[in-house]
Amino acid sequence: MVRLNANYYKLAAGYLFPEITRRTKKFLEQNPDVKLMKLGIGNTTEPLTKTVIEGLHQGVKKLANVETYTGYGEYHGEMPIRTALQSFYKKRNVDIDVEEFFVSDGAKPDSGNIQSIFCTDSKVAVQDPAYPVYVDTNVIAGRSGEFNEDKKLYEGIYYMPCTENNGFIPDPPCEKMDLIYLCSPNNPTGAVATKKQLKRFVDYAIAHQALIIFDAAYSAFIRDPDLPRSIYEVDDAKKCAIEINSFSKSSGFTGVRLGWTIVPFALAIENVNAGDVHKFWMRRQSTFFNGPSNIIQEGGVAALSDQGWKECQQLVDYYMNNAQTILEGLSRMGLTAYGGVNAPYVWLKTPNQMSSWDFFNKLLSETHVVGTPGSGFGPSGEGFFRLSAFGHADDIQRAVQSIQDNLRL
Ligand SMILES: *Cc1c(COP(=O)(O)O)cnc(C)c1O
Repeated sequence: MVRLNANYYKLAAGYLFPEITRRTKKFLEQNPDVKLMKLGIGNTTEPLTKTVIEGLHQGVKKLANVETYTGYGEYHGEMPIRTALQSFYKKRNVDIDVEEFFVSDGAKPDSGNIQSIFCTDSKVAVQDPAYPVYVDTNVIAGRSGEFNEDKKLYEGIYYMPCTENNGFIPDPPCEKMDLIYLCSPNNPTGAVATKKQLKRFVDYAIAHQALIIFDAAYSAFIRDPDLPRSIYEVDDAKKCAIEINSFSKSSGFTGVRLGWTIVPFALAIENVNAGDVHKFWMRRQSTFFNGPSNIIQEGGVAALSDQGWKECQQLVDYYMNNAQTILEGLSRMGLTAYGGVNAPYVWLKTPNQMSSWDFFNKLLSETHVVGTPGSGFGPSGEGFFRLSAFGHADDIQRAVQSIQDNLRL
């Protein structure tokens, strides 16, 4: 008899984004003339840059010619994209072997799939709040108990609270964990870990034979030159950390699809030889994945070229201007907000200790702006609200203006 994977039943029913869609739709049914302004989902809106488009065209052209046509390629990406990534890291004084890169169809699949090479009874720690993929994929894999409706968390998962008190960067766990997910710059809080803060996690991981899964999808948004863009800027991180990154947010590849994961050969975990984690991930990828698209890889190489990256940085600047617009608007109103300086998310403290969902309703009905309730990212997100800087600048300005004019505090 075929049975479903019962772990799916554990996934919390009111999943964040469908619930936002449901409430938004209901509001529009009751107020059909309203034009909503969306600062909700972290989706890019600006077109690909000139150099990237040329790279993609180049990729298409190669397929039209028998001399340059390619079929299946390497499971972890062709040499040009891996050497381009190697040079990209070299600029930050980080040395990565070309064979340590696994180029993929994105950071979401990688951050979701990576858990599959670790045993089912691994103990998992996550930042709270966090990008939902880390928790949900571990729930599906059977590494949690049930969802606790009172505490709004899964039993068996270790939550590291990210609060105003710790600047939204948690301390390492106080007990022994196996897999630790870190995201910096952080979605949803916009907080960025310093080298010193990351070093504490690296030291913890080495002392406790744990492994860090570091999601750096927003590294291109860091403006402060002293903040680490890669965990490998921290000594010894290659012994204990996997890094995941993506072209999605830096280069507008959300729909194009290209990302990468670094699994260092030096990674050594409990009872496992150095190199085995790398072998396992290669085995996983070669079994379930046939390599990233050849056309898209050309776009990725173009994005990493000097001119391409300059253009991508202009895209990033565009969104970071939006972040500044949001931050300034909110602070003029006397609201408390975090993030938005080295990350494209603003983490607003709800006024008058409103719950995240109550504030969602208030913002929607009074200002016609849609955002994301912080509680949807974990229990410590309660009382906070995420505003995304992705969007056309004039839409963002209209939204901020509407909040200033119409939000009743
Ligand atoms: C957007 C995002 C990603 C990117 O995922 P892709 O699959 O590469 O589009 C990864 N991690 C976090 C935290 C994100 O917010």
